[in-house]
Amino acid sequence: MARGQYVDDLPSRSQIFEFWKDRIVNAVRWIDWGEPGCWACGFYYGRKYDIKRSDASWDEILRCWDRIPLQRCHIVARSLGGADDVSNLYLLCRECHDRMPNTSIPEIFFEWARAQSWNAREDAKYRDAMRAFGVDEALLPELYRVMNSENFKAWSDGKRGLHWPQSNYAPVSSRLTPATTFGLAVYYLRSFERSRPNADATCRTSPTRRLGKPTRLRKLTTRCI
Ligand SMILES: [Zn+2]
Repeated sequence: MARGQYVDDLPSRSQIFEFWKDRIVNAVRWIDWGEPGCWACGFYYGRKYDIKRSDASWDEILRCWDRIPLQRCHIVARSLGGADDVSNLYLLCRECHDRMPNTSIPEIFFEWARAQSWNAREDAKYRDAMRAFGVDEALLPELYRVMNSENFKAWSDGKRGLHWPQSNYAPVSSRLTPATTFGLAVYYLRSFERSRPNADATCRTSPTRRLGKPTRLRKLTTRCI
């Protein structure tokens, strides 16, 4: 046993994988043995955990499944009498583990698991960031134009940081969070409008655009033409 290694009574990830690999299609979805990902939302951990060779031995495949940072989750919680058995364990990313239903009825878990989508969840995070900064659909084209402009890229250089996920969380690599991207673009738009000396003369206000609180509304709904 390696020093510091956590030991528990749960079956290993590879043991859980071996049990579910031929059953999982009926339960939730098809699992790619060579590209391990979350068994609910489908989150893919990246090439780091892939099985690179098509002729990989079964032992190599199992070792890969033991390395992946998926969490072993009880379908029926221990507190509700769920066993520490492979048939009651499932491999989920940390985010799915946090969100999953805890009941004594397995069907509820599987119905929930089938409905998960990492893409849909990411979309929700974008929408949450939009809401936080008061961005509505109508303003998106303008924000994307700002984000893609050379001026914005130069201005935001050094102002945006990559977020490193907490250990075992779903995203395993650093990334720009949606809140970073939208926050900077909205801030830039506000500053840009404020910095124009003749904003009233050169810009018009669109009544259909809403952005932010009333005090911010005027500046952010002002569109340069
Ligand atoms: Zn997941």
